[in-house]
Amino acid sequence: MRLENKVALITGAGSGIGLESALLFASEGAQVIIVDVNDTAGKEAVKRIETKGGEAIYVHADVSKGDDCRKMVAAAEQNFGKLNVLFNNAGIMDSGDDNAMATDEDVWERTMAINLKGVFLGCKYGIPALQRAGGGTIINTASFVAFLGAATPQLAYTASKGGVLAMTRELAVIHAREGIRVNALCPGPLRTELLMKFLNTEPKKQRRLVHIPMGRFGEAKEIAKAALFLASDDSSYMTGASLMADGGITAAYVTPE
Ligand code: NAD
Repeated sequence: MRLENKVALITGAGSGIGLESALLFASEGAQVIIVDVNDTAGKEAVKRIETKGGEAIYVHADVSKGDDCRKMVAAAEQNFGKLNVLFNNAGIMDSGDDNAMATDEDVWERTMAINLKGVFLGCKYGIPALQRAGGGTIINTASFVAFLGAATPQLAYTASKGGVLAMTRELAVIHAREGIRVNALCPGPLRTELLMKFLNTEPKKQRRLVHIPMGRFGEAKEIAKAALFLASDDSSYMTGASLMADGGITAAYVTPE
């Protein structure tokens, strides 16, 4: 059990990467705080963990709101006595996210509020709890788009993930001597609700697939395994790193026929 006696808080744990990570972390012995704004999905995730003999609670929190983030961290300490793993994973991809001309200011602001400020707020309230626990690990979900530009634009999303990456490196340096490791998880295109809603036609999906050397979308379960590696002592000498799990997309110049 790689997370025995660990308490892990995961935002956006009602679906996709967050959900699969919550299930995997619980099966590895962690007590899990499921955070989401979708109460039905969050409570269902708790049930799935409990059915398998694991321990979890659901906390409704919008990561773009400071007070909600303060409360989610307090819930972790009140229910399980401490916090060891903070997984800032919640994120959105707005259907109105486009190029600079077509993206409305409110789409830009909503995307930044959840994807970028949400990570900051998780850290603002989570880091003191990790310090009280004598150290811990933070995983911030960025994306391969923090490294590569696409001609099929999603400008606000891409900028938000670049911010997550830069913030992760600085957090890692600031807290390195406190036993707190901070790493970015950079998934490639996944077959989760977030991307499949955005690529809502077959031609749009094919336009993406052509750039992935492996020739398929990734699965949330595959990313959860990378998250477990970053959450556990298996990655004990890693901090400030960007772990790419992207089907080879960032390595490719020309993809196989
Ligand atoms: P998903 O849509 O399946 O799950 C995201 C979850 O976050 C949902 O349960 C949603 O209710 C929740 N959420 C949304 N706004 C929230 C808020 N304000 N506060 C709390 N919870 C909120 O998405 P996913 O594909 O699992 O994505 C998870 C993370 O991975 C995101 O940060 C996303 O940007 C990133 N990512 C996804 C892909 C991909 O292709 N799917 C690729 C790279 C990175």
